[in-house]
Amino acid sequence: ADRNPGQPEFLQAVTEVMESLWPFIERHPKYAEQGLLDRLVEPERVVMFRVSWVDDHGQVQVNRGYRIQHSMAIGPYKGGLRFHPSVTLSVLKFLAFEQTFKNALTTLPMGGGKGGSDFDPKGKSPGEVMRFCQAFVSELFRHVGADTDVPAGDIGVGGREVGYMAGMMKKLSNRADCVFTGKGLSFGGSLIRPEATGYGTVYFAQEMLKTRGRSFDGLRVSVSGSGNVAQYAVEKAMAVGAKVITVSDSSGTVIDMDGFTPEKLAVLMEVKNHLYGRVSDYAQRTGTHFEAGVRPWHVPVDVALPCATQNELDADDAATLIRNGVLCVAEGANMPSTIEAAKAFEAAGVLYAPGKASNAGGVATSGLEMSQNAERMGWPREEVDARLLQIMTGIHAACLRYGARADGSISYVDGANIAGFVKVADAMLAQGVI
Ligand code: NDP
Repeated sequence: ADRNPGQPEFLQAVTEVMESLWPFIERHPKYAEQGLLDRLVEPERVVMFRVSWVDDHGQVQVNRGYRIQHSMAIGPYKGGLRFHPSVTLSVLKFLAFEQTFKNALTTLPMGGGKGGSDFDPKGKSPGEVMRFCQAFVSELFRHVGADTDVPAGDIGVGGREVGYMAGMMKKLSNRADCVFTGKGLSFGGSLIRPEATGYGTVYFAQEMLKTRGRSFDGLRVSVSGSGNVAQYAVEKAMAVGAKVITVSDSSGTVIDMDGFTPEKLAVLMEVKNHLYGRVSDYAQRTGTHFEAGVRPWHVPVDVALPCATQNELDADDAATLIRNGVLCVAEGANMPSTIEAAKAFEAAGVLYAPGKASNAGGVATSGLEMSQNAERMGWPREEVDARLLQIMTGIHAACLRYGARADGSISYVDGANIAGFVKVADAMLAQGVI
């Protein structure tokens, strides 16, 4: 804590990982050698930079840009860019740290990184968003590369923003690879990448439910958020027979006891992805119920899929979900549950998967996009989807392997942390003190 003052999210992520790793490290003391843990909690490189751009009124605006290159131990730095006013060094360091373990869990050769800016895309014109993206890349470009660091999207960075940044990257580098993943299909993107995080979260939850002999069929599901991850979690959950009854954003929650339908989801996608509107606009269009200023967790459900942002589900929310009989919580977002909430789920015997396991499908499919780009091919939708399912099933199996407790229960937290750690740590030990 003394080395990282004012970085609560980073300290929270490190605490959560170290608490679950410690008993394992005591049994395997080689992982405490060569300063391994001290090295692992220190990003290899942090780049912070000024982003200046001109708004529609001719005024100069200044934002702060970041790229955290956390670990290259098993492959190029890999992780998304977040554009949101809540972005700080602490938030991005926590995300880059988590990303390192998540990427190891996918079994693909990707290191960990994350970046972004405190720029708020809400209310900005398309021209302003493009100029900001170009200004951001005019500095970022010198730090990234297909074998160095491969950025992608995250909160506030979707296909449109990746397109603008990849375009600027191409112009500055005079190279067609344009480095980013999550690109449009017409210039090197992968089928299924937009769907991958949401689909993958549901694939993972399916595996969790199987351990109790259950399926999604007929289960009530709450989803938080209404962005990229949330939308495709809703789509896949519906497809496997669940009744999805909530979505949300930072202004409140839509509660729809009749459940989502493909038609309603199409309206949500139109409102969020093309009109850049709010879930309240969606509620108005569909005649569904909107509750301002509340989160979805008071609604009784069998499965909860938090897909918005960090620390959006606290101990009180966990207690409410448990009281209402929740069976399974699988995180689509990164660290949406506080440490206390996560502990409460495990103590109550709820099937609980941390984001680094259950939301790894997005980055895994980004890894598949890198492979397709390297071989200058595009794989069919079915092939990418089948590989995604296989990777998520594999991560689930790794969690069972490393997360089994003496009483026969499974801690997905321990399983994901230990499985991810072992791969990164073995690579670091083999490569010496660097
Ligand atoms: P989007 O920008 O598409 O959507 C984000 C959603 O979360 C919006 O509904 C947004 O609401 C809500 N949200 C964001 N910040 C807050 C906040 N401070 N309080 C309440 N709600 C908030 O992002 P994604 O769907 O891509 O990302 C969602 C989560 O999933 C993040 O944690 C991200 O790191 C994680 N993730 C994303 C992956 C991907 O492939 N995209 C991969 C793995 C993890 P509003 O519009 O009101 O801000």
